[in-house]
Amino acid sequence: MRKSLSIIFLSLLIVSCGTQKKTQTVVAKPTLPKVSPVKPEIPVHKPKIEHNGELDFFKENIGDITKNDNTISYGSIVSANPSGCKVVKTFFPAVAQNFRQKYIILHYTALDDDKSLNVLTQQSVSAHYLVNDLGDNEIYQLVDENKRAYHAGISAWRKDKMLNDTSIGIEIVNAGYKTDESGIKIFPEYPDAQVKKIAVLVKDIATRYMVPPTNILGHSDIAPTRKQDPGPNFPWKKLYDEYQIGMWYDETTKQTFYDTAVLEDYAMQMTVPSFVFKIQTALRDFGYDINPNGTYDDATKKTVETFQYHFRPQNYSGMIDAETWAILQALNLKYPNK
Ligand SMILES: [Zn+2]
Repeated sequence: MRKSLSIIFLSLLIVSCGTQKKTQTVVAKPTLPKVSPVKPEIPVHKPKIEHNGELDFFKENIGDITKNDNTISYGSIVSANPSGCKVVKTFFPAVAQNFRQKYIILHYTALDDDKSLNVLTQQSVSAHYLVNDLGDNEIYQLVDENKRAYHAGISAWRKDKMLNDTSIGIEIVNAGYKTDESGIKIFPEYPDAQVKKIAVLVKDIATRYMVPPTNILGHSDIAPTRKQDPGPNFPWKKLYDEYQIGMWYDETTKQTFYDTAVLEDYAMQMTVPSFVFKIQTALRDFGYDINPNGTYDDATKKTVETFQYHFRPQNYSGMIDAETWAILQALNLKYPNK
């Protein structure tokens, strides 16, 4: 079919070119079959588009929703405007597409409201949203969700690296930690009004982009040797319990692991390479960027501390103990890294 059309088209082209060169001696025009322009076959289903002023929006999912290919447009469709051509948005709704926004990363600014806004808008770092602690209902948007903000730096989680490319960054105004005389990091609380704003913002973004619970993380989770934010006072459990946001372990599963874990002497076990290797492997399997080597080194301690900020904030010593080990195993069972 395509071959025969090409032949017809080629013949037309030759005839067309020939007619340009025709001379006065040609008396009769050849009779040609009428051929209308051939368009590729239209897919069965065309995506619905809503026009709003000068902007167009996809109003339905195009991709395979079972593969998280949720492609409903929450921003206007950005298209080329090539001179002399028309871009047809409904013609080829490819099923192989999805959102670039795979992660939500939470930070604290370690600055007050004014300084946070100044640094995040005028310097080389940025975030999509800034949540103030002024007790109002405002959330500041600093970067378009379709664009990349610079908040994560060198970062990794599971198979992904450099998460600025694939994340929405949320900065939260919070003073950050101070170190006391004994070297312990002391972190400030998050006010309830601010937590509520964070929760509804994260919920909104996670729902629209179908961000899985395993991909809603703190900066320290994706950069454990460099970062502490949002710290142990960030209410991950409250977000999970009250808003179904992010990950949390099942208490009964944790208790089952704890009953076995509590029998170990962890001060001794942390000197046993095979045990340390097992802990490091479990941390890596969960998602942390750690290279199992059998030594309880500084990177391992910081990664355990980060894990404790998120899932066992009552004690963030960076040392493995029965409860930390039980929680880690319970989480790996609930959120397997496929
Ligand atoms: Zn951060």
